[in-house]
Parts: sequence; C-alpha cells; structure tokens
Amino acid sequence: MSTSFWLDRSPMQRKCSTYDAIVVGAGISGLSTAYWLQKEDPSLKIAIIEKTRLAFGASGRNAGFITCGSVEHFNRMIGKHGLEGATEIWRFAQENLRLLQQEIIRDQGTSLGFEQNGAYSLAAQANEFSELKSVSVTMGKLNIRTEVLEAPDVLKRVGARNFVGGIRYLDDASINPVALVRELAARVKVELFEGVEARAIEATPNGTRVLKTDAGDFEAPMILLNLNGYSAALHPWFEDKIYPTRGQCLMMAPVPRFMDAPCYANFYLDYFRQLPTGELLIGGFRQVEKASEVGVSDHVTGPIQNALHQFVLTHLPQFKNVPVTHRWSGVMGFARDGEPMVGSLPDDPQVFFAGGYTAHGIGFSFNTTKRLVDLVYGREVPRWLSARRFG
Ligand SMILES: Cc1cc2nc3c(=O)[nH]c(=O)nc-3n(C[C@H](O)[C@H](O)[C@H](O)COP(=O)(O)OP(=O)(O)OC[C@H]3O[C@@H](n4cnc5c(N)ncnc54)[C@H](O)[C@@H]3O)c2cc1C
Repeated sequence: MSTSFWLDRSPMQRKCSTYDAIVVGAGISGLSTAYWLQKEDPSLKIAIIEKTRLAFGASGRNAGFITCGSVEHFNRMIGKHGLEGATEIWRFAQENLRLLQQEIIRDQGTSLGFEQNGAYSLAAQANEFSELKSVSVTMGKLNIRTEVLEAPDVLKRVGARNFVGGIRYLDDASINPVALVRELAARVKVELFEGVEARAIEATPNGTRVLKTDAGDFEAPMILLNLNGYSAALHPWFEDKIYPTRGQCLMMAPVPRFMDAPCYANFYLDYFRQLPTGELLIGGFRQVEKASEVGVSDHVTGPIQNALHQFVLTHLPQFKNVPVTHRWSGVMGFARDGEPMVGSLPDDPQVFFAGGYTAHGIGFSFNTTKRLVDLVYGREVPRWLSARRFG
C-alpha cells in the first residue's frame, strides 16, 4: 500500500518534542484523563497518542447506556463486595453521571443525545424477576430509586413482549457515546496524534519516560495508559488482569418511538434501546459463542448476529419487517474481578493506567479517571478501585 504525503505521520508536525504528560488511547478514558489532568493544572502540555482515531475503539462502538452499578444485579454485587462495598461502587457510578452532567453535558444534553429516563432490567424467567424484586427492596432501604414492573407494565413502557417483569432504575441515563467523546476532545487543550501506535516505554537517564511509537519518540515525565481491552498488547502486566472481550451489536432502521428508556435483559448479558431518532440498537449474546468472543478483533459472527435478530423477533415485533442497517463489534476490557482499576505499573511508578471497565466504561470512566489523577497527585484512591488489590 502506498502512503500520500498528506496522510504520512511525520513527527515534524509536532509542536514540541517533550510534554508534561502523554496519554495513550483516545477513547472516553483517555480524553477524560486529559480533562482531569488539565483541570488540576491548566498549564500542562499534554499529548494524546492514538493508534487509529478518536473514539474508534469501544468508546465509539458501545450502546451508550450510562448505567449505575456493575455488570451484575445488586444482590450479586453484595455477595461479592458486602453491602457496604456494593453500595460504595454504586454511589461511585452515580457520581460518574453527576460529574459528566456537571462538567461536560451541562445544557447541551440534546446535542449529545443525552436522556435521563432511567433504565430497565427485564426478566424473561420467574427466578430473575424474583431476584430483581428483592434488589428493589434492598435498594429502597439505601434510597436508590427503583420501580417494580409486572409484565403488562413492561409492555406499556417499552413495548417488549415475553418478559415476566422487571425493575426500572430511575436515575440511569443514555447518550450518543461518540458525541460525548468529541465534546470531551473539544474541551481539552491537547495535541492529539491519530494513527500513531505506541510500541514500548523506556526510562531515560534524566528520569523522564520515552514512548516509542511507529512515528518516532515522545518524551514526558509521566505516561498514562488508557488502553482498556488493548492494555496487554502494550505491557504484559495486564495479561492476567484485563482481558480483551468482544461485544457485538446490530442496528435496525427507525420506527416511531415507543420505548421510553434503555433495557437490559438476561442478567445484564443482553441489552437494547430505541434511540431518540427511532432506530433500535441491540447488543450482547456473547454467551452464544463465549470462547470466540475474546481477543482484539472487531469482526461480527453469524451465530451472535442471528441470536440478536432472533431476540428482536421474539420480544420486539414492532421491528419484524424492518431492515438491519448496521452490524459491528468492539473490544472491551474485562477486569479479572469485574471492577475498573487505576494504578501505576509495579516496574515503573511513572507509568499510570486506568481500565478494566468490564462493559461499563461510559458509566464509570469519567469518575475513574478523576481518581487516576488523584493518584498521580499523591491522593488516596478507594481500595476496590486501586490496582493494588491484585497484590
Ligand atoms: C458493543 C459494546 C457495547 C457497550 N455498551 C456499553 C454501554 O452501553 N455502556 C457502557 O458504560 N459501556 C459500554 N461498553 C463498554 C465501553 O464502550 C468501554 O468500557 C469504554 O468505551 C472503554 O473506553 P476506553 O477509552 O477505556 O477504551 P477504548 O474506547 O477501547 O479506547 C482505547 C483506545 O486505545 C487505542 N489503542 C490501542 N492500542 C494502542 C496503541 N498501542 N497505541 C495507541 N493507541 C492504542 C485504540 O485504538 C482505542 O481508540 C460497550 C462496549 C462494546 C464493545
């Protein structure tokens, strides 16, 4: 393949050769990291190094749910973290949404496709519904607002058939994730290098770090990795902590809107939402081909795409004769214990990182990267979020 002069990535285009901080990865996490760094110190010279282009990883391929909590029902989170720990994680995600609204979304919600209509967790089986009802009771005692829906209410609110019931989390929200990342990019004063791949990090005798890339060297006293599912490809420390995991989606052409908020089904494994413009986005069904849904390829596969379409026919007949317009996948970073992490590399304390968002980076990364910047500036971060929990 030949390369034109204009598309060539000449390091000569750089304004400077050294920076105060180098962020690697231009997804929501990398841009949020740059945002909080600059909020801490507006004079910082920051470079963002991105292998492809802005929001081209999972940040531009997700469903746009801004979900509180975790990838599990709250009672299961309690089983894992105890009541206090699970509540702390839930509050952290609530804070993520509050911070996004306060700092970025502000009064521009409509142009970012932002809506705060809550989100549903729907049950096709009685056992999941009874679990959800007990979740609602527990949450009520914690003043986390939910509402229980029987099958006819599900049909009325989201037009979905063949569910026995569900609950609605009243505070959840949704957004156009690419518009959000672009808005973040517009807010930060950084040099963004797209099409530049980070290959290695080296220490220099004067105490700085050099990021080796296919477009030359970048130097700074600190490097902040925001690679999520791609982390282990750059540094082996992530190999047994953040696993690249593929998620697939399907989009159907618009019909008049009947669904008032995004929905999860089948213990968070599957999800769908009707966009403000009427399209249906549906994703999930990794369980159909679990073994093949690992790694960093962004292909789609027949069995999962068929399962997604079958789900639509079973539960959302409004889309029965509607064409599929898009099929895609993205690479998520699943943490070993399901929770995001911030830290610095054990072999290099000047290389910081955030990741392991486990399918919830829109719901977690803005607050996570705020805590990453706390760590950079020597402030405490919660134990459950710190990578030190891995020893
Ligand atoms: C199908 C799907 C649906 C999802 N739905 C939701 C949802 O509804 N709500 C939610 O909260 N989360 C959802 N997620 C998860 C969410 O998208 C991620 O958690 C989030 O986008 C992670 O952001 P990030 O910036 O950490 O990673 P990414 O957006 O993946 O960004 C990492 C960037 O690093 C770049 N990169 C990789 N290697 C290098 C290198 N060597 N040098 C330079 N750059 C490099 C990549 O090109 C990429 O742009 C979903 C994910 C998928 C795939």
